[in-house]
Amino acid sequence: MSDSEEVKAKLDIVEVIREYVPVKAVGANFQAVCPFHNEKTPSFVISPDKQIWHCFGCGRGGDVLSFVMEKENMSFIEALRMLAAKAGVVLKHENPEKTSKRSRLLDIMEIAGKYYAHVLKSPIGTKARDYLLARGLSLETISDWRLGYSPDSWSSLYDFLRARPLIGKKYTDEEIMAAGLIIRKEQSGTGRNYYDRFRDRVMFPIWDVNNNIVAFTARINPEKEKTEKMGKYINSPQTEVYDKSRVLFALNKAKGAIKKAGYAIVVEGQMDAISCHNHGFDNVVASSGTALTTEQITLIKRFTNNLVLSFDMDDAGQMAADRGTKEALAQKMNLKVITLPYGKDPDECLKNNPDDFKQAILDASPMLQYYFSKVSADLDLKQLDNKLTVRDKMFAMIALVEDKPEQGYWLKKISEELDFSETDIREEFAKWQAAKRPELNRALAAEKSEPSLKPLIREELLSELFLALIIKFPEFISYSLDSLDPEQVYPDENVRFYKTLIIYYNKSASLDYNDFRQYLTENEEGLDNFLDKLILLGEKDFYAHTPEEAKSEIIKVVMELKRYFYQKKIKSLEKEIAAAEKTESPEAGGGEIMARLMSELKNSAEELKKLI
Ligand SMILES: [Zn+2]
Repeated sequence: MSDSEEVKAKLDIVEVIREYVPVKAVGANFQAVCPFHNEKTPSFVISPDKQIWHCFGCGRGGDVLSFVMEKENMSFIEALRMLAAKAGVVLKHENPEKTSKRSRLLDIMEIAGKYYAHVLKSPIGTKARDYLLARGLSLETISDWRLGYSPDSWSSLYDFLRARPLIGKKYTDEEIMAAGLIIRKEQSGTGRNYYDRFRDRVMFPIWDVNNNIVAFTARINPEKEKTEKMGKYINSPQTEVYDKSRVLFALNKAKGAIKKAGYAIVVEGQMDAISCHNHGFDNVVASSGTALTTEQITLIKRFTNNLVLSFDMDDAGQMAADRGTKEALAQKMNLKVITLPYGKDPDECLKNNPDDFKQAILDASPMLQYYFSKVSADLDLKQLDNKLTVRDKMFAMIALVEDKPEQGYWLKKISEELDFSETDIREEFAKWQAAKRPELNRALAAEKSEPSLKPLIREELLSELFLALIIKFPEFISYSLDSLDPEQVYPDENVRFYKTLIIYYNKSASLDYNDFRQYLTENEEGLDNFLDKLILLGEKDFYAHTPEEAKSEIIKVVMELKRYFYQKKIKSLEKEIAAAEKTESPEAGGGEIMARLMSELKNSAEELKKLI
């Protein structure tokens, strides 16, 4: 068994997909609203039995590996690694030449993470360790989060990576540099050409949601805070494995707790997140920056719709302008904001009294409420112009709320707070929206260009249904093959499949899914995937059909396909006849051609008559 076969055998495709999108049992199969294109009614079908999926809206389909590749934007090998970990499968020896560059960079980051963590435990790391303990972290937390220390040296990590023959041979300088761990000297004489990016710093690994270390945040040695010219924190650069806007710090650790709690708390700093987990708030992630990005919203939406933000948001206007906030509101996410009693950040608040943090979560106010108090904070709301300023700022936020009743709620609320009539506010809001809406829609449309399939023409649809029915109800195969000729299905792809099916059936005199699929894989490129699609189509449309119903369905579809076929044939014969009348002279043998065409036309007309 190959690695991928073993992984597929150990995992349930439904459970894997369920982590990304809600699925619903329908008959023996499962359906979902497609995670790859915009739709309201589910056309995404999963067969647990065959361990395959297909979307009849956008045409994507495949197995559990291709699902993860598509959803996570991963290469085959990355998806395999991730699913292998989930399935508890140890991958057999991987050929480094074949491993993708991304995977190789992840390996280097993993080794570097181990190295820094090891140094922190050694005597060289004493001061860094003391610093972390003084900040209230337990040794257990330090080890859990794999915190580390980069020695005060220009090349300790680089030397370490190079000195180990295995690693030295496996990874090149270019790769270590591409991982963001070393920097090339601008002018290199003899000797080393590279130096370590992180020196004498406390190292915080940053993981992606799949537990890969993708970057580090490095905090300055506290003793050097006054003298060091570089920043207090330096981060890994953007690399092939690290895109700051696409990572939510601690999501790998928090995802289970987020699902369980039904909400996620988003803090700004990594240290805040670690401190929260340290105090038992396991559903906390950090944005690693003030603004939440659209990508981060998409990430977290897989686990919950409810976000509680604990940001240091002095500038509420900025917060409202954040793309992530807009996106979250537009995606009907429920946003609340924590106001901490004292202490500027959660870390300080927790050190003061963890119960205060708990209370602050319970007291979190809805985003718009919070925004209202921020924009009106220093204004005298008895003044008309102040009222109008606040009203317009609130309109801009309320317009982001997709839910109509919720919009109504906030309009009523601001009419009360500002002492305007609710009717007037509603009217003004409608005008305001009418003026702004086209602008907003255009911006949204530009961001989302939806790939979508052309709707199938009826003949094509019928041909697919015909093939799907045969596959789902093989007891009617011989009847079906006798009733419809390959030329009577449409278009070429279906014809090719049908012909192959006929050849296969004539050889083996039965239709066994596994055997037929194997046959296709070996003989007809691409048709194995086409078979999967047909199977899921059959499961989707005919899962509840009794054999009798299936039989009558086959008869109906065959009749209709034949009708299409003869109608087309008659049309094309009529054209040929018209052309022949113009060009052929009866004396030159044209009479024979004409007679043949006329007889074909007569036959076709008779066949068509039988079908009506
Ligand atoms: Zn789709």
